[in-house]
Amino acid sequence: MKQEQALKFLCDEQLGKLARWLRISGQDAFFKNRLGDNELIELAEKEARIVLTRDHKLVKLIAKKGLAYYFLTENYPALQLRELVERFQDKIRIRVFSRCVECNLALEPILKEEVKDLVPPFVYKHQDLFRRCPGCKKIFWAGTHKSQVELQLKSVLGEIYDKIHEELWNPIPEKG
Ligand SMILES: [Zn+2]
Repeated sequence: MKQEQALKFLCDEQLGKLARWLRISGQDAFFKNRLGDNELIELAEKEARIVLTRDHKLVKLIAKKGLAYYFLTENYPALQLRELVERFQDKIRIRVFSRCVECNLALEPILKEEVKDLVPPFVYKHQDLFRRCPGCKKIFWAGTHKSQVELQLKSVLGEIYDKIHEELWNPIPEKG
């Protein structure tokens, strides 16, 4: 697999909903309630994150520091997602359910045997692939919720979705 440098974002405190959309689609998007300007700038610099904001005052501070930012023109989270994806489509890959929406950490594959007592019996019976968040330990699987999210993203992003979508939940190839 080609290893490209994925973009890292930092959503300002007004953009919590956008952060959720970004995480659901697999992007690294830092977000924290009541993150002060100084803390935000420090973090953006330390972790080389692109600051996402609609705050003119903040933009001035960031620009003065020479840090990367993107000023969103759209008001609604879904449209903001589309705006961002259009802007960065060469560097963004949509990987649904590859990141924990709460913790912003990349999910790790986990063997089916290991989740037997952690998921509902129905899910265990019908699903073969599972991933776990290394932070909150929540288990994810590719059920109907994933299909719904994909449909939603597709309707928001239109044609771009098909161009930059990558499926991470392929069945494990059968041996011999
Ligand atoms: Zn988590």
